[in-house]
Amino acid sequence: MAAEREDLHAGLVSIVGAGPGPADLLTLRALDRIQRAEVAVHDRLIAAEVLALLPAAAERIYVGKASGHHVMSQAQIHEVLIREARRGRRVLRLKGGDPFVFGRGGEEAQALAEAGLAFEIVPGISAANGCAAAAGIPLTHRDVAQACVFLPGHLAEGSPGLDWSSLARPHQTRVFYMGLARLTSIAQALIWHGLDPATPAAAVIDGTRSSQQVLAAPLHRLMQQAPAHAGRPGLFIVGETVALSPHFAPGSSGGA
Ligand code: SAH
Repeated sequence: MAAEREDLHAGLVSIVGAGPGPADLLTLRALDRIQRAEVAVHDRLIAAEVLALLPAAAERIYVGKASGHHVMSQAQIHEVLIREARRGRRVLRLKGGDPFVFGRGGEEAQALAEAGLAFEIVPGISAANGCAAAAGIPLTHRDVAQACVFLPGHLAEGSPGLDWSSLARPHQTRVFYMGLARLTSIAQALIWHGLDPATPAAAVIDGTRSSQQVLAAPLHRLMQQAPAHAGRPGLFIVGETVALSPHFAPGSSGGA
């Protein structure tokens, strides 16, 4: 196969994107690494059906976090990866979505590089791609959105890090990860900086999973109902292309 199978030596750490949930959204390369793992270090959002693909003999080390409660610090996760690689095991670092999109995959790669250990990155379908497809929301569209930007929702409140004036400009799709709890404050910041409150917006909860829920409505209407879903993993998507979704309810407060 395309991935150089012979190059997968003992002690290699594969940092693998598991996609947004369903096992059939894994890449073939991700599946290959999962099936040959000797130890799997994984997060909370990895679906049971993906974990079920691990060899029975593979050790599983759960390092995830649930709503801010960290089982392990990022530094401890690095220590686990380094320890397991030095033991000469084939290490699978399984992460939700894509490892290089808000997944701290970059920090883990840096830590492994500094430790002089070999690693590879296997891309995954990021939540933005999965949710966009499943909810019928094009991320770009020649006529209405020439750009798409991925943003961290949890930095939004009071964060100097985001350029709100630029984000408030039309013709772009804004995708906030970890954003449902902050949906109202993000929306207020965008509107304050000039975004039309009628701009189509969506909350996609458990995107691509059987429990998926899509709420899509003009931003000012979505703001009224979304706080009820604050604790769930979801994306907040704002932009004209949301109106193309079959879930979009222009005049009401959205549908399930
Ligand atoms: N690396 C991941 C993102 C990790 S941050 C990726 O590329 O997708 C975790 C956040 O991703 C969650 O808080 C949520 O906002 C989002 N997320 C992950 N899976 C999701 C899903 N199936 N549906 C909606 N949002 C999801």
